[in-house]
Amino acid sequence: MSLGEFDLISRFFMRPEGQGPRRAQVGNGDDCAVIAPAPGHHIALSTDTLVEGRHFLSTVDPARLGHKSLAVNLSDLAAAGARPLGFTLALTLPRADATWLEGFSKGLLALADAHDCELIGGDTTAGPLTIGITVLGEVPAGGALLRNGARPGHELWVSGQPGEARLALEAFRGTLSLSTEDFQATRDRMECPAPRVALGLALRGVASAAIDVSDGLLGDLGHILRRSGVGATLHTEQLPRSACLTRQPAAQQLDMLLAGGDDYELLFTAPAEAHAQVLAAAQQAGVAVHRFGHIDAEPGLRLLDQGQPLANRWTSFDHFRA
Ligand code: ADP
Ligand code: MG
Repeated sequence: MSLGEFDLISRFFMRPEGQGPRRAQVGNGDDCAVIAPAPGHHIALSTDTLVEGRHFLSTVDPARLGHKSLAVNLSDLAAAGARPLGFTLALTLPRADATWLEGFSKGLLALADAHDCELIGGDTTAGPLTIGITVLGEVPAGGALLRNGARPGHELWVSGQPGEARLALEAFRGTLSLSTEDFQATRDRMECPAPRVALGLALRGVASAAIDVSDGLLGDLGHILRRSGVGATLHTEQLPRSACLTRQPAAQQLDMLLAGGDDYELLFTAPAEAHAQVLAAAQQAGVAVHRFGHIDAEPGLRLLDQGQPLANRWTSFDHFRA
């Protein structure tokens, strides 16, 4: 039996009454969704697209792809300190494959439910596999975490263990080899990133600037520095190194840490006086954070390794240059 456009939408992307979060005044299935933020709040909105061959391998498990498609979008809300409300899904599919759709929608909606984020609409077309998601969240009016608030003297922090997703990607590419256990662990990080939504919420009013790390730590830090009109000094030995990472040669460890990307950790700054509040926020969110540098008035990036200057040989990912 062939699956038509409307069967496909109602079977995989509409929830039966009483199932899934209900956040919108008018949800999926009408011409438009209608959604209202809580009083005193603004809507935070972000879009990310995943293209087969660019952002994921054609062999990836569809449930994991569903998870990751929403995770990268929730990560943007996390970086703004926004609470997820809902999302739309623009799905372009080469064919209506029920088994694939079943897995994809399961992974997608499980993460949506975990974050109380309702699928409020979308669009479905035929074409090369592409997943476009627009996510909406709410922030207290004037309270979004932005990229422009870093000031000289503020401390630089990162959550989790950056670099692991890139380890898996390089193992897939065959440029390095990992033990079976390390491959499994890093592959989970690459295919199933955990958006740091709870941390973003806990950092409201504490962090001065924030961004999520998708294109590499140094590249994404560059966005904060430019927007804030400041520079930074980094102590690379203070960056957290996962067990998998420490089993790689030292030079490659730095490559993964500084230019890896795809980890969806939060990179943020906070005044030195807020040090204890940052640690409390991280504990509340159940995520480890590490301070690894500070903001300077002098523009540019100064990299240090055990106090010794390190030349910056890393560039961040750019779709039109890669
Ligand atoms: P319209 O022609 O009004 O744009 P569509 O026929 O594209 O409507 O979609 C019908 C309904 O199904 C709309 O409410 C739309 O939001 C929803 N929808 C379509 N595709 C998806 C999808 N991939 N995921 C979730 N909802 C979808
Ligand atoms: Mg439409």
